[in-house]
Amino acid sequence: MTPTAALLAAVSLPLTAVTLGYSFLCWVRPFGACSHCHGTTRTTSRLTRRTRPCRHCDFTGLRLRVGRRAYNTLRRLLPS
Ligand SMILES: [Zn+2]
Repeated sequence: MTPTAALLAAVSLPLTAVTLGYSFLCWVRPFGACSHCHGTTRTTSRLTRRTRPCRHCDFTGLRLRVGRRAYNTLRRLLPS
């Protein structure tokens, strides 16, 4: 194995593993915890520090993962 091929394998194998792992995660669990309320469905206002329903996740505590959103967009754009 040449040094160039070894370097390419050392770079591409972890990238492929991470990509496949994230794709599998997006397939198995398309929703993740909301980044604003951390899945609690409540957030605090900056000014008064009172808790209020999280408007970023519409009071669900869930958000669609970026990879799943990209997959859904590509599925809508590409003809079946
Ligand atoms: Zn939220």
